[in-house]
Amino acid sequence: MGGAIYVSPTAEPIPNGVVLIRGGKISAVGSRATVQVPATFQSLDCSGRTITAGFWNSHVHFFERKWTNAAAIPAAELARQLQDMLTRYGFTSVFDLGSPWENTRVIRQRIESGEVPGPRIRSTGEVLIAPHAMPADNILAVLGDMPLRNLEVTSAEQAIEASQKLLEKGVDGIKVHLQPPPPPNPPFPANAIPAAVTQAHRAGKPVFVHPNSGADVLAAARAGVDVIAHTTPQSGPWDQTILMAMKNAGVALTPTLTLWKSAMRHDLISMQERYTNTAVGQLQAWAALGGTVLFGTDMGAVDYDPAEEYALMSAAKMNFPQILASLTTAPAERFGDSQRLGRIAPGLEADLVVLKGGPSQNVRGLAAVEYTLRGGRIIYRSAD
Ligand SMILES: [Zn+2]
Repeated sequence: MGGAIYVSPTAEPIPNGVVLIRGGKISAVGSRATVQVPATFQSLDCSGRTITAGFWNSHVHFFERKWTNAAAIPAAELARQLQDMLTRYGFTSVFDLGSPWENTRVIRQRIESGEVPGPRIRSTGEVLIAPHAMPADNILAVLGDMPLRNLEVTSAEQAIEASQKLLEKGVDGIKVHLQPPPPPNPPFPANAIPAAVTQAHRAGKPVFVHPNSGADVLAAARAGVDVIAHTTPQSGPWDQTILMAMKNAGVALTPTLTLWKSAMRHDLISMQERYTNTAVGQLQAWAALGGTVLFGTDMGAVDYDPAEEYALMSAAKMNFPQILASLTTAPAERFGDSQRLGRIAPGLEADLVVLKGGPSQNVRGLAAVEYTLRGGRIIYRSAD
């Protein structure tokens, strides 16, 4: 109680507000003057702070070596790792877009059983990819990643089979990775994308595509995918054909703007800047069209602190309500959870972020988290 409450990205914040939580759910929200706080309730002083719905990161990976053999990681250490990567930044829901499914499922199970505090996890499990397109295990090891047994696809039939196999194992979506293999190996077959989409949509699950160029974005949008998992600065700005195809298909975009500097950290600094600026321009063009943006960083492949990503989204002319929507309402809607998550309203899950200050003037403040609550439970508390 006592903080400024953003019940949704579009509503004016309620100053000096109160959120009542009962049985893990929000039972009331409003100003102190309008909400009666029962004397028996435990209270959390949030004076001078800002309260929003729990954040989503819609592009993360549990493929770093630290997650290996998740069943054997001591509970305290697993909790610390989840806190270090996610909950300390307010992430209460994440979509993992590529990791060893059985292992990620164990992490989720240990969270859901109540053994370790952590976010709600969805995952695509292993990804569909052209043969030889993924680096060999020894290269992944140098990158700090676990070996990945991805599903290699050379035809639409194989895409159907691979998607079916994953869906039967219970994944929450399908990820198609369009990284081209070194020649003379053929790229991911174009007709395999709509084939995967049909299978996933039949099961009510979304499809994510990792594109490498504007042409890939165009192909993915036309194939009916749900989420474009990256901007593509390597191929220059997105033209009207690409942007309109995205718009007409109603895709969402996870911008991953900080990824480029990180992936190119060994290259000329001017090149890093050019890529970053191009990616920012792509996001700006998409957001200006009113396109759906889901906050997503490729976390696991980049540093965990999301402050720079927020600043770059702001550089792409996204305003504070738009950035907050990308963290809350937009992913909740896209993934069919808007009746349960994404806003602060009676009846919804009490997934909340308490920010140290007022982030609407400086968006980097979205990364300065005092408390993270999931289902009414504090799962992160800042030490200072
Ligand atoms: Zn990724």
